[in-house]
Amino acid sequence: MASGADLIRQAKEQINEVDPREVHELGANGSSNGAVVVDVREQHEFEESHVPGAVHVPRGHLESRIEGAAPDKSERVVLYCASGNRSALAAQTLQDMLGYESAESMTGGITLWKDRGYDVEVPRALTAEQRQRYSRHLLIPEIGLEGQMKLLDAKVLLLGAGGLGSPVALYLAAAGVGTLGIVDDDDVDLSNLQRQVAHTNDRIGVAKVDSAEQSINEINPDVEVVKYKTRLDAGNVMEIVEGYDVIVDGADNFPTRYLLNDATVRLQKPVVSASILGFDGQLSVFKPYDGPCYRCLYPTPPPAELAPSCGANGVLGVLPGTMGMLQATEVIKLIVGAGEPLIGRLLLYEALSETFTELKVKRDPACPICSRDPESIAEDEMGKFPDYEAFCAG
Ligand SMILES: [Zn+2]
Repeated sequence: MASGADLIRQAKEQINEVDPREVHELGANGSSNGAVVVDVREQHEFEESHVPGAVHVPRGHLESRIEGAAPDKSERVVLYCASGNRSALAAQTLQDMLGYESAESMTGGITLWKDRGYDVEVPRALTAEQRQRYSRHLLIPEIGLEGQMKLLDAKVLLLGAGGLGSPVALYLAAAGVGTLGIVDDDDVDLSNLQRQVAHTNDRIGVAKVDSAEQSINEINPDVEVVKYKTRLDAGNVMEIVEGYDVIVDGADNFPTRYLLNDATVRLQKPVVSASILGFDGQLSVFKPYDGPCYRCLYPTPPPAELAPSCGANGVLGVLPGTMGMLQATEVIKLIVGAGEPLIGRLLLYEALSETFTELKVKRDPACPICSRDPESIAEDEMGKFPDYEAFCAG
């Protein structure tokens, strides 16, 4: 029976070992050199510091994850660990068992790399409390530490702290989205509480932005809330939207939706849009120039008698919860870059029949807004819409 030391020695005889100097020179050439550098150490070792640009595939997950990190088996793969033993064994596995043509191990590991004076990348770390709070995210490969950092760095603007905005705000806060901007000029009313779950009975009469802020802070102190107790209009839309990564549209009226559309196309910001009425909901993601915009989908506003925003309308209390959860999901996907966002697709939800229908939606080559270069969209053109009072009266 061979000893562990024998196995390591045999592995090193069968694979190619490369000096840290050569790996460092690869890095200096950029990523076009066709080599993937893989750190096979444990999570806590990788998080302490690693070779800049290295991908992390712990040796315990080598077989199941290496093809995600290095899909091209003819490509050069350089593995390293702390001292060069684990990476030698891992390289042997890639070469002998998984068919990698050029799996190599870096001599001396990151210890020798550091001794040579080469730079290491020290990733930002979560605090112990954050590690515990986001532990169920850290366990999903699509999110993980990197995705959680992206969420903490993200700035999301919520248009409205009402039916849709409430659940979106609470769940994005819980998920650790670092900055939540909220635009709403309303105060909490008793008739809101049937569905607007960010607000409470004892906060009737309080500004919705203040009430929402209180609920968010109670869930997650990591989140910074930026309050805009105002209505979005042509005079403030550019300034408010500009600093955010993703916009969540829960507006209850068409003029605001058109205005938001035009400004976000100009600023090239993605909008996660939902609307609700009765038992029915709609959802789509408008990512400028990647898919259609709101005006491609709705070139003209609906006839006034069908416009839900001209007066109070009935809505099933849980419906904004359903649609808001789908919005929050799309926001997180956009931030961490996971999955297929709902771009160019319109999702229709009918609660009474409990059916989801998906429609493909295309960019309109004649769209008055997104058929043009963003720079050519003048500020005085934004949000062009028939006079609203007249529109609703008609
Ligand atoms: Zn368009």
